[in-house]
Parts: sequence; C-alpha cells; structure tokens
Amino acid sequence: MQLANGHLLQQHSFINNNWFSSSKKFAVINPASETVLANVSDAGKTEVLLAIEAADLAFRKWGTKTAKERSMLLKKWYDLIIQNTRDLAVLLTSEQGKPYNESRAEIAYGASFIEWFAEECKRSYGETIPSPAGNKRLLTIKQPVGVVAAITPWNFPIAMVTRKIAPALAAGCTVILKPAEDTPLCALALAVLAKEAGLPEGVFNVIATTKAQQVGEILTTHPAIKKVSFTGSTQVGKLLMQQSSSTLKKLSLELGGNAPCIVFDDADLDVAIKGTINSKYRNAGQTCVCANRIFVQRNIYNVFIERYTKEVNKLKVGDGMEDGISIGPLINEDAINKVKYLLDDAISKGADVVVGGTQHKAGRLFFEPTIVTGCTINMQLNKEEIFGPVSAVYVFDTEEEVVELANNTQYGLAAYFFSQNINRVWHVAEHLQYGMIGVNEGIISHTEAPFGGQKESGFGKEGSRYGIEEYLHTKYICIGNI
Ligand code: ADP
Repeated sequence: MQLANGHLLQQHSFINNNWFSSSKKFAVINPASETVLANVSDAGKTEVLLAIEAADLAFRKWGTKTAKERSMLLKKWYDLIIQNTRDLAVLLTSEQGKPYNESRAEIAYGASFIEWFAEECKRSYGETIPSPAGNKRLLTIKQPVGVVAAITPWNFPIAMVTRKIAPALAAGCTVILKPAEDTPLCALALAVLAKEAGLPEGVFNVIATTKAQQVGEILTTHPAIKKVSFTGSTQVGKLLMQQSSSTLKKLSLELGGNAPCIVFDDADLDVAIKGTINSKYRNAGQTCVCANRIFVQRNIYNVFIERYTKEVNKLKVGDGMEDGISIGPLINEDAINKVKYLLDDAISKGADVVVGGTQHKAGRLFFEPTIVTGCTINMQLNKEEIFGPVSAVYVFDTEEEVVELANNTQYGLAAYFFSQNINRVWHVAEHLQYGMIGVNEGIISHTEAPFGGQKESGFGKEGSRYGIEEYLHTKYICIGNI
C-alpha cells in the first residue's frame, strides 16, 4: 500500500489529539491479498475512560463555540479530506476491499456530510411560540446533547463515520468513535486530518479495539455519555439499546435490512436491470440497503432473467486496486461462509443457481456474482441479510401479493420497485413499510436525504436537515411576569 502522505497510516487510538499505543496489537488485513496492512494497538477500558474524560472536558468549550466557529473548522476538515482523496481511497480499498472507484465515491460522499452539516449548524433555529397568556413569552432553543458515542461498521469505513461525526460535531457535541475492528485505518486517518484542521483536543476521539463488547458496555452505561449512535446488526443494536436504558441515553440505531426490489411488468426493463444491479452488487453486496429479495412479475420473468443474467455476467471480480473491477472480495471468512450457507439452504429447498454460486478464482475471499432463481419464503435468504453478491429472485403475480411479500419481514430499511404506472408508483410507495423507497432507481443514499429505517431496522435519521436534530435538545423557555 503506497500512500503519498504516509502520516495518514496510524496504528494507535486517538485520544485528546494524541496517539495512545498499547502493548497488545491486532492485525488489520487486506481482504484481497490477505496480507497484514498494520498492527494496531488494541485499546481497552483505560483508553475508553480517558477518551470519555477528554470528550467531557472538551464539550464545555466546544458546545459553547458559535456555530460559525465550529463550521469553519469542519470546512477545513472537509477540504483536507478532499485533498487527500487518493490516499484515503487507497487505504479504504486496502482494508475493506471495494473497488478503488467506489472508494473514491465513498470519500466524496463521506466528506459531503461534513460540508453539509458545517452549513446546517448555522441554521439550527429554535422558535417563538404564540403565548396563551399576555404576561408570558414562550420560546425554544436548540442545544447540543453532550458527549456522543458512535459505533460504526466495516462496510463504509469513511461514510458511516462522517455521517455520525459531522452532525454531532456541528451541533456542538464531542465524540468518541469506535470503528469496526476490520477497518480502523480509515477512521484513524480521518483523525489525523481532524487534528490538522484544528479541531481542539478531546473533541473527536477514536478507540481502535477488538474488545467491542467491553468497550460498548462502557460507552452505553457511562453517565457522561448522553447519546449513542450505532450502525450495525439488529442483534447488537438491541443489546446497546438495553444497555443504554440504564442511563436513558438518546439513541440512533441504523440496523439490518432485508430490502425488497420489485420489478413490475410495466417497468422499463433497461432501467430495472441497471437499478437492480446497482443496488445488489455495489460493495460486493455488502450494504444494508442492497436488494436482498428480487421479486419479478410472472409475465416478464423469463425475459428479465435472460437479460439480467447477461448483465451480471459482465461484472468483473478481482482486487479492487486493479482497473475495471466491479466486485472486490468479501470482508472476511465469516462473510464467505454465510453466503455459502444461505445458498446451500436455498438449493436444498429447490432454488436453481443460474450464474455463479461458488468462490471466485481470484482468491479465498472472492465470491462469484451469483443469481439464484425459484426462491421461496421458507428459505433462509428470504429472512436474513445475504451481504454478498447473490441475487435471490422470486416470482409474483399481483401487486397486492407482492406488497404483502415485501412487507413480510421484521426489517424496514430500504425498498425498491420499478414501474412506469404513476398510480402504482404512489400506491406501492405508500404501502411499503420501509424508511426509504427507491422508485425506478437503485442508488438512493444522498447527503441531502434522510437515511433511516422503520421496524427492527431501527430509528433516527442520518444526513439531510433532520440529521443534526439527533444531536440536539429542544429546550423550552418560558419568560413570565412580563
Ligand atoms: P456486522 O455484522 O456488520 O459486523 P456488528 O453489529 O457485529 O455488525 O458490528 C457493527 C459494529 O458494532 C462494529 O464496530 C462492531 O465492533 C460493533 N459491535 C459488535 N458487538 C458489539 C457489542 N456487543 N457492543 C458494542 N459494539 C459492538
């Protein structure tokens, strides 16, 4: 891994603008080559408590700076990230595996949250309320909630971090970030640039650790932490919510998905195929908004499969640093095993593999882009997130039937459908029980739009004008006896 700015590769936790080493290390692996990229200090209780103390102290000053002062520092941070796009993208592809161009797009997307919230914080208005009494005046102000703990996953090591950190810092909160153990290097590189941008001591801290459970327990129970923002599995989200109840912390949970992707017979098939591929195969299928269940109306089923297969066959698998690659490796062996288990289960229950179905010759952690047809609701891949490059295709007859099938899951993050019938577009969009709906579109995440789910996909919005609200209290003030 060659970086122009070698200083971006850090291997220790970042607390109070200093690097904290510890004797115990853990290896960060490049999933394409399975070589060791770095040996990172494995932080524990001592470091977390130090970070909480630093963030708590820093909050007293950071929270009282003007929005404009915070905004200017965040904009510097944004500029530095953009200037270092190449290095950050190399780091990202190296530790996470996604194709280099997808990494560059993630840096731009991730940085855009910093720019957006640097602007939004200047517009965190309270309001005056018409008073019910002549001698009283009623108003609200917005104030930062306090120290925030952010816990992030490995699939977007930059964007999942900035989507939480940017609104938190912009609102006036200070942050302790625990990135995923598979991908701590991007988060540590962001810390290098945050310091360079001039963020004061203790405002942004990063705890690199393999002790997720121990660190998570401290972060969710410590009284100094006022808010927990988590992106990851529903199972861990529920645990963190339970732990956070001891001190009633404010929570944002962005959890698992089981996205339906419906192709109606009145769809533009070119648009539907492109949109489905974009949703399904981005990041090798490792996003919580990837199409997990593809429902195709019976009278276009054969032609859809034929054309979809042709397009999927064009996807090139390999090391994300090579040219023209659209599918990199999966993150680790567990991910490969999960995909294999889901496919075996589906095949044993009658599904047919029409493309792929096995590991790819590029290496142990690579999986062929796969299409499996004849899927039914009794298969595990109907219930669980596949998190790999596997299209599971189902057939349906009527709109009513498919909406019911699509909603038949405890998840409610993203859903997609393709249709050119305006009445159907409204009707289906309103009846799908999901936080985000893509209509004739497979890529729907934008900084400007509210990202978040319903049901057991969690709650809270990230990005958009709503994102900063998650880090603010609305305080009501009543001035009497006027
Ligand atoms: P995934 O299956 O995508 O890895 P996880 O929910 O296991 O999802 O992980 C998402 C993030 O949550 C990672 O940073 C991981 O280290 C962290 N995590 C996992 N278990 C716990 C836990 N018990 N407490 C706190 N954080 C945890």
